[in-house]
Amino acid sequence: AIDNTVLKLSNVESAYGPVKAIRGVSLKVRKGEIATVLGSNGAGKSTILKTISGVLDPTKGNVEYQDTDITSWDPANIVRKGISHVPEGREVFALLSVRDNLTMGAFTRKDRDGVARDMEKVFSYFPILKERAEQNAGLLSGGQQQMLAISRALMANPEVILLDEPSLGLSPKLTKEIFEIVVRINRERGTTILLVEQNANMALNAADYGYVLENGRIVMEDTCERLREKEDIKEFYLGMK
Ligand code: ATP
Repeated sequence: AIDNTVLKLSNVESAYGPVKAIRGVSLKVRKGEIATVLGSNGAGKSTILKTISGVLDPTKGNVEYQDTDITSWDPANIVRKGISHVPEGREVFALLSVRDNLTMGAFTRKDRDGVARDMEKVFSYFPILKERAEQNAGLLSGGQQQMLAISRALMANPEVILLDEPSLGLSPKLTKEIFEIVVRINRERGTTILLVEQNANMALNAADYGYVLENGRIVMEDTCERLREKEDIKEFYLGMK
């Protein structure tokens, strides 16, 4: 696409049975950028990511990735195509070792050398995971599990990462560390990132472009630079006035 769009949602509606969680969501993510969707609890942020990754099929609208319509594709095929999802609450395999969790992240790949290289690469981003490589993932702290979840997504060698609320349950210090690595992954690998967050302050500082979601609808979008200046965003999402 002319404007570098890699991921495009057009008029997407998704529901859990009778509950409509998102209604007519349209958004674009450009190649190499960090885009963010902000919104309060229950606004529908996670639902957007689940709809892109194929965990949930939309009831209306479509999802395009690099000019291919991937709406309702099987999640494994969406990973093969280049999109990895880091779900909310990380969902690591608690009874598998850190190393085996990472190997699972590469399940779609056959290039063993590339997988080994990427394992070393994620250990360079998160050295603690190398130290704990043979321990069960369930023994990691919350922050370390978040690091593992991001690393597991990287093991698929994705072009796009869908990152669901990495700050959830983490201290401000750990949140800052995680965000620094996310930005580094974006800059170094050129990975496109779609980040959903309740922590608007962190997200607006890390991202390039932002959408604000309310009750399943996008009510505002702009560059993060401009969103940071908007008074109503500050009031509602940053708790400052
Ligand atoms: P949170 O940060 O709390 O996850 P969110 O913005 O990500 O918030 P979603 O998880 O996308 O919000 O949820 C959007 C709406 O869909 C909410 O009203 C929620 O109660 C509902 N919902 C989410 N998951 C389910 C489910 N599995 N079954 C039924 N309703 C659901």
